[in-house]
Amino acid sequence: MGRIICEDHGVQPFYEMCIHLFDALESGIWPEMKTLPIIDTYLCQSCFDEYRIEKRPIFSLEDFSTLSTDQQEKIEKQITTIYDTLELKGKCVECVKAIQLQDTKNNNRPVPFQAFENTLMHREQATIDQLGEWLRSQFRFQKSKYILTNNDDALFIKSGAMTYPLSIKIYYVIDATEQMQILSLIEQFFETVPQKQRKVSFYEAEHWRYQQNGEIMRILPGDELLLLEKEVY
Ligand SMILES: [Zn+2]
Ligand SMILES: [Zn+2]
Repeated sequence: MGRIICEDHGVQPFYEMCIHLFDALESGIWPEMKTLPIIDTYLCQSCFDEYRIEKRPIFSLEDFSTLSTDQQEKIEKQITTIYDTLELKGKCVECVKAIQLQDTKNNNRPVPFQAFENTLMHREQATIDQLGEWLRSQFRFQKSKYILTNNDDALFIKSGAMTYPLSIKIYYVIDATEQMQILSLIEQFFETVPQKQRKVSFYEAEHWRYQQNGEIMRILPGDELLLLEKEVY
C-alpha cells in the first residue's frame, strides 16, 4: 500500500482498484468490491467475472505460504498477468470510508466502523494551526527531541480523518494542575469550532524509535508512559 496526498485527509494510504470501482466511488456510489488474490487490489464484479477469478481453483487456495516455491511462482505469474492488463487507480482510504459511511446511512444500515465526521481534518489545517498558536501563546511547552518538528516544542497536533479523531499529544507536562489548565484552554478554543471530536493525551516523556528502511528513515513513537487521556467523541 503506497501513499497519496488527499485534499481532505492529507497524506494517506490508498486502495488500489480497477477504474470501474474508482468511477463508482467518485460518483458517491458504494459498489460491490472483490479482490485480486495475493495482491490486495480491488476489482469490480465485472472485472472479477471477466478474469474468471472465482472459477480458477488455483486462486482459492487458503494458505499461499504453505505451497511449494514452484506453485507460488506459477500463481504469482498468473496474477501478475491479470494485474498488468487492468486499468488501475488509487483512492485515499479515508475517502473510501466516507463514501461507505454515506452509503450505510442512506440504506439505514449500522455503521461498520467508528466514524469521526465531526473532527478537524487536513482540509481545516488553518484552524488546526490556530489551535497550536493559541496553546503556545498561553502555555510554555517543553522542548522536543523530535528532529522533524516544525515547532521545536513537545506539543504535537495531528489532523483527524474519517476513522480517527484530531490528536493532541503533549509530553513532559506531568503536573495535574497544569494538565487541567491545558485541557481548559483546549475547551475554550473548541467553543467556537463546530468539529469538536478530539483526543488529548499527556505522556511522561518522548521515546522515539528510528527505523531505517532502505533509503527511508521512519521515526515512530516508542514505549511512552501515558499519564492522562481525554476524549471528546
Ligand atoms: Zn472493473
Ligand atoms: Zn481522502
